Order: sequence, then structure tokens, then C-alpha cells
Amino acid sequence: MMIKLKKMRRCSCDELIKAIDAYVTKADDDIERALRRSGFANPKATRKQITELEEELTRILEEDTAFVVNIVNDYDDLRTIYNEAWPEIRDREHLTQRLSRRFEQTFSEIIPDYVDTYIKRTDPELSSLGLTHATTAWIQDWSYELGELMRLTDNRQLENILDEGLRDGLSVQEVSEKISDSGIRDPGYRARRAATTEILRAHNVAQQESFMQSPAVESKMWRHSGWREYSRQNHIDMDGQIVKKDEPFTLVGADGAVYYPMYPMDSMLPAGETINCGCIEQPIVSEDVLGLSLEERQRLQEEAIAELDEDFDRQLDEQNKRLRARSS
Ligand SMILES: [Zn+2]
Repeated sequence: MMIKLKKMRRCSCDELIKAIDAYVTKADDDIERALRRSGFANPKATRKQITELEEELTRILEEDTAFVVNIVNDYDDLRTIYNEAWPEIRDREHLTQRLSRRFEQTFSEIIPDYVDTYIKRTDPELSSLGLTHATTAWIQDWSYELGELMRLTDNRQLENILDEGLRDGLSVQEVSEKISDSGIRDPGYRARRAATTEILRAHNVAQQESFMQSPAVESKMWRHSGWREYSRQNHIDMDGQIVKKDEPFTLVGADGAVYYPMYPMDSMLPAGETINCGCIEQPIVSEDVLGLSLEERQRLQEEAIAELDEDFDRQLDEQNKRLRARSS
């Protein structure tokens, strides 16, 4: 009997591992196929980048959970944790820093490659000439903001667990178990969602950058890709909207507010309009410009970048002056 049971258990374990393996591989294949069908560049590499970022984020979040649990376990009662340890837990700058650094590194690695692929779709003979100052600044700012957003989300969850613990009279041990229970903080799910959203956002940022660099691109069209099951009616309604490449689209949000994003998943949009959004842009090119000599197109590309950088630097300068004036 014992032997039989053992055998059965081992057998079903193997089956389960195979099933999980098949499920994960199939899910990944679906992502790759869906990305290709929707018109995203480098679908195979993109899938790999999503998985890598997901793994890194999971690791950071899990290590952070261990850090918090360690602090909590140093105390004997919840009230003292709230009064003495909570400020230290809440302010974990190292979490923001680690997450921000991870995002910044990923964006800095992948966006230049994407720009090159997308610019070639608008003009096969052009290459990316690096990133404009605006995009470089976006990478820094948004990476920091993402780190902060994830820490604040985390804090809300932790605070809820502490509140519940106090309300229900739980012991420190019980609260610490709740915190380390991945079912509550679910680093895997959060990490996958964040990784997918941010890698696809990077595609859209790169696409916009490529349009701005490519002299042949005059306008852009919003394309709803119907990617996965997360279709939003208001994004389906956007399908086919055309604007000049340096002008924003008009998006009526699910909340009824009107937004002016430069591209799908623009970080100025609320999370509700960007998480798992698979929309992308399509360039509208001028055959006249494509008919110019390669030297002429390259010269126009360099000019466009110089002009964009000049505008951005001037605006940044004015902004800094205003800030200085306000603080003095
Ligand atoms: Zn969308």
C-alpha cells in the first residue's frame, strides 16, 4: 500500500510538472504569436525580455518581503510595530531604488534596439541615431516613478494587513505569516503584470521616438490590436484615429475624462488605461520624402533630432528657472 501510494504520488508529480511546463510554454508562445500578429517588433526577444524582467521583479519583491518580515518578527506586539517599526518599513528607499534601477537598466537596453527596428519600418535605409534627450529623460523619470508606485502599492497592502491584524487581535506571528504569504502580496502576478505592461510601453515609446526621427513619417494612426482578452471598448473606438506625429491623440477614458496621450500606454495616462493594453501605432509616410536621396533623408533625421533636443533643453531650462524662482 505504502509503495503504491509513493509510486502514485511520484507519478502524478511528474504529470503536474509536465502540465505546468506545457502551460507556461504555451502561454509564452501565445504571447509571442499575439505580439507578432499585433505588429510589435522583435516578438521573440520581447517575450524573453518580459520573462527576464518578471523574474528580476519577483526576486526584488520576494527579498523585500523577507526584509519586512524580519523587522516584524523583532517585535512582540502589533501596536509597537505600528508605532515604532512602521515608519521604517514604509520608507524603504532601497526598494524604490532597486526597482527603479532595474526598470532603468531594462529600458536603456531595449528601447534603442526597438527604435532601430521601428525606424526601418518607416524607411528601410535609416538607422536610429541614438535617443533624443526627451526619451532619455523619460527613461530616468518613469523608472523612478515606477519604483515609487510599486513601493506605495506595497505599503497599502502591508498597512491593510497590519490594520486587520490589530482589528482581529492577531499575534505578531500570524501577521508575519500573512505578510510572507505570497497569496496576499502575490509577487509573481504583480511582477508578470508590471513586466508585460512596461515592456510593451517601451515599444510604444520607441515607436514614437522612431517616428520623430524619421523624416518620411508625417502622421500616426492608433491601432487597437485586440491583444489578449483585455480589450477596452474605448481603445477599440480609438482604432484608426490619425494625428500628426508630433501631436497627441484624443482618448476618452473609461472614467469619462478626456486624455491626450502621444502614443498608446503614454505614462501620462492612468494605470487603468495602460495595464495590459496592447495598442500600438502605425506610421503614415510621405512617398515624396522617401523619394529623396539617402543623404538628404539622413540630414533631415539629424536636423529633426537636433531640433527636438534644442526644444527639450530649452523647456527643461525654463522649468528649472521657474523652480529656482519659486524656491528662492
Ligand atoms: Zn489599448
